[in-house]
Amino acid sequence: MPESAQAMAVRKVPQKFNKGSDDLTHLTDQQRWTLYKPWLEHNDPGVRANSIICLIHQANYLLDQQIAALERAFIEDGGYSEQLATARLTERQRQKDQTKPAGPTRKIPVCPKCSQPMVLRTAKTGKNSGSQFWGCTGYPDCKGTVKV
Ligand SMILES: [Zn+2]
Repeated sequence: MPESAQAMAVRKVPQKFNKGSDDLTHLTDQQRWTLYKPWLEHNDPGVRANSIICLIHQANYLLDQQIAALERAFIEDGGYSEQLATARLTERQRQKDQTKPAGPTRKIPVCPKCSQPMVLRTAKTGKNSGSQFWGCTGYPDCKGTVKV
């Protein structure tokens, strides 16, 4: 059947270019038209109409693929507003965590061993190295500590 042979040939045009590193997206509209010229400017109006229908089918197929991919992404990652809300909650929590330790309302504890006021220190050695703790101002005579 000559009609389906024409349809096959029209469908094969982009395949021919996708095989290599080339794709059709870098071509101008005029260059793309040239690729389909044998059918789009065919003497038989039937061939012209069929090639256009063929291209419409291809466009529909690609749009369906794109919609399906977007649906999968939506189910997996959530929608735009959901992602915005998540990002906002994360940022709000981060700001809260950041201001909490330096906040003015924080109470300075007294040493559980000698009742002197304590100071915020950073552990330089041991398994808690790098993390903060309350140390007695009577150090080194008093080794009292309180967790932050
Ligand atoms: Zn103490």
